[in-house]
Amino acid sequence: MQYYSLNQQAPNVSFREATLLGQAPDKGLYFPEYIPKADPSLIAHIGQYTKEELGFRIMLPYVGNTIAEEALYQIVSETVNFDFPLVPVNDAIASLELFHGPTLAFKDVGARFMSRCLGYFSRGQSAKVTVLVATSGDTGGAVANGFLGVEGVDVVILYPSGKVSPVQELQLTTCGQNITALEVDGTFDDCQAMVKSAFMDPDLNLQLKLTSANSINVARWLPQQLYYFFAYQQWEDKEHPPVIAVPSGNFGNICAGLLAYVSGLPVAHFIAACNVNDAVPDYLRTGHYQPKEAVATISNAMDVGSPSNFIRVMELFQKNYATITRLISGYTVTDEVTRATIKKVYDSFHYILDPHGAVGYHALETYLLEHPGQKGMVLETAHPVKFPDTVESAIGKPLEMPAAAKLLLGKQKHSIQLRADFEHLKSYLMSRS
Ligand SMILES: *Cc1c(COP(=O)(O)O)cnc(C)c1O
Repeated sequence: MQYYSLNQQAPNVSFREATLLGQAPDKGLYFPEYIPKADPSLIAHIGQYTKEELGFRIMLPYVGNTIAEEALYQIVSETVNFDFPLVPVNDAIASLELFHGPTLAFKDVGARFMSRCLGYFSRGQSAKVTVLVATSGDTGGAVANGFLGVEGVDVVILYPSGKVSPVQELQLTTCGQNITALEVDGTFDDCQAMVKSAFMDPDLNLQLKLTSANSINVARWLPQQLYYFFAYQQWEDKEHPPVIAVPSGNFGNICAGLLAYVSGLPVAHFIAACNVNDAVPDYLRTGHYQPKEAVATISNAMDVGSPSNFIRVMELFQKNYATITRLISGYTVTDEVTRATIKKVYDSFHYILDPHGAVGYHALETYLLEHPGQKGMVLETAHPVKFPDTVESAIGKPLEMPAAAKLLLGKQKHSIQLRADFEHLKSYLMSRS
């Protein structure tokens, strides 16, 4: 399997190179040259496979011969070694809980897979790889946890001081070892801009082997399709496939689901559930795509004005608007409705949604009202305890801490303070090497 750049100005590369580079030299996103079809008997007998076997079979064609089969099986096993339960909320809606990994959000899947691939590829190399990543919350923790202790890889995470939740901050500042947290006196956009400047800086690139771990990396994006297969394993009414609602920001998650669908996974319809950052719902409504400035909301992991992976959705369907709108509906959900949804679902069904899941739930509920007789699932992308203020005030009681979060609370935060200034980041990185 080769990967091409969506900007068409760079040579095709293998999975290994695409993972090591992150982005193509022409700044395009990498895309697989064809979408492998899942074996129909695998889909028909999906209940007979373990998560590991299923994951291995799905990922094998994407990875090709760049990773030995036993090693790939091991990588997949470590990627999916927690639960992905499909929990009924009411008669028509179930919640696919993607928050049972170590950092309590779905990003664990991509981060664990990518970290182990990078570890595999850097084995036997003399120079260490430095992963540089900016986070608005969940990415940092997942990347820190995923890469912790991976030999040959150093991780430097930039996060905006005071703008991530307490659990999120502890997840990325308490790892130690090969993980360093830089606490930037600025916004997420400042962090992102500093990281981008670092990738373009000739001095830094001479000194360090820099790579990124954000969702444009194929090794983070592709494994996210696995839990769509796990969801279908648990879906009882195989005659009537589910409508799937995906809380979306950068559109990596839903795009992975669409990939699974094109491979042959039965899905009735996809719902792109957004907060008021509505560039894609706008496109689905009008046929015109216009990136916007990001607006801050209570579902902050989806505060993206210009979703990087949307171009991959377009590529998957040859930019065919009719095909895209037949398969995907977009919804925009305000903070007010998000809060009301958390309260309503708790009061009616005793199920606690996080703000991102609540956006998805409301969108799905709206779609099902417009399409009676169908049933669906919402991807619950994070544990509610990551957003305690919003959730506790909506349901009117304190949240129970899962063990993973309790453990963190006793730990000491370690961060290096940095001004929101690229030169400051540069001199720090140069002094490390
Ligand atoms: C990152 C994130 C999202 C958005 O996922 P995309 O792949 O960027 O669309 C949604 N919910 C949570 C909790 C997240 O951390």
